[in-house]
Amino acid sequence: MHVTHDAPLAPLTTLGLGGPAATLVELTDPGDFTEFVAFVEAGAERGRPPVSLGAGSNALVHDDGCSAPVLRMATHGIRRRDRSGEERVLLEVQAGHSLSDLVATTVGEGLTGMEMLTGIPGTVGATPIQNVGAYGQEVSDTLVAVRAWDWQARRRVTIPAAACGLGHRTSRFKGTRRWTVLSLVFALRRSALSAPIGYRQVAAELDVDLGARVPLAEAARAVHAVRRGKGMLLECAHPGERSVGSVFLSPAISPARATELRARNAPVNSFPDGSTRVSASWLIREAGFGPGRPVAPGVRVSSLHYTLVAEEPVGSATAAGFAAAVEIVRRRVHRHTGVQLTAEIDYLGDWEQHSAGKEASLPFSDASHDGSVTLRIKG
Ligand SMILES: Cc1cc2nc3c(=O)[nH]c(=O)nc-3n(C[C@H](O)[C@H](O)[C@H](O)COP(=O)(O)OP(=O)(O)OC[C@H]3O[C@@H](n4cnc5c(N)ncnc54)[C@H](O)[C@@H]3O)c2cc1C
Repeated sequence: MHVTHDAPLAPLTTLGLGGPAATLVELTDPGDFTEFVAFVEAGAERGRPPVSLGAGSNALVHDDGCSAPVLRMATHGIRRRDRSGEERVLLEVQAGHSLSDLVATTVGEGLTGMEMLTGIPGTVGATPIQNVGAYGQEVSDTLVAVRAWDWQARRRVTIPAAACGLGHRTSRFKGTRRWTVLSLVFALRRSALSAPIGYRQVAAELDVDLGARVPLAEAARAVHAVRRGKGMLLECAHPGERSVGSVFLSPAISPARATELRARNAPVNSFPDGSTRVSASWLIREAGFGPGRPVAPGVRVSSLHYTLVAEEPVGSATAAGFAAAVEIVRRRVHRHTGVQLTAEIDYLGDWEQHSAGKEASLPFSDASHDGSVTLRIKG
């Protein structure tokens, strides 16, 4: 367990924004977690739950940083629990393990269930928080249980997947610091072939029909190629852009709105939780945010994908500016399309105490109506 004070958090996030952690603890050995609990309970904050941080690929840290202790999960390791001959293989994976490495391991070992998650940045411990998913697969497809520390009950708990409230990019863990995820148990199936290809772009990349099953490694390669084309891989982000992925959820819409938007050629898809959703990227484009368009100082629409990015080197961009840009896009999309966008990113740090219950005026104007915008942040 490694403790530092006044530790910059920006370099620990993919956006590169935000202030320092008053106390940052990095945990590499799962066996040190008990010591960490004692450290938190003996600290000035007396048991106030820490902020858990993985690879910072879905996080916007406040410019003033984080006064609560920040725990960076850097534990690694996969423990296999399988019996020869059985089709199902159980894997227990430490929270700090890289998701990309886990996916590569499962594909390499001939296990299906995660091959479409290739190229998603971040740690395994963060995956249940928003039920990470892409191209037809979600963590909920393979998750068996979450092992966590419950800061409210002050004990280790094992939460079965069915009790995790996993939905479309959400779970009971989203928006609360009650649990620190320690490890996850997944069940995968032995198979040389992938799950059925459910996305047109992936099918086109493979030159197969929708619903086809292909060798695992080919499916992963095709998803990787599609993501590369959209700039949705960290390693191929456009030079000068720092990304936090989609920023917005694809919003759920009513059947009537789905019919109306389909008639306008909007990508409208059905999801495993029963919801029908329209692509957030399409809505952003419809609202007139073209590639590269500046939205707030140092924050613009990506040149590769309809999402917000911070300009690099980070100079004029601030976390407050990024949050303001999120609000500008949200309001304009609503005005132009009637659909409400919700942010997918997690606001970490002192947002709550700076904005609790009040609206903060921000020094940016929405170019569409020249008025200053206000921001309400829930923390
Ligand atoms: C280029 C790019 C592409 C992306 N593509 C996708 C995609 O296709 N699908 C998708 O679902 N997401 C995508 N994302 C978002 C992101 O990769 C995922 O949300 C990922 O799970 C975040 O992992 P992380 O370790 O970086 O979490 P962080 O950003 O560090 O944290 C995210 C949240 O999880 C919490 N958290 C982290 N670790 C723990 C823990 N051990 N215990 C409790 N809480 C924890 C944090 O407090 C925070 O609320 C993308 C992001 C980028 C930058």
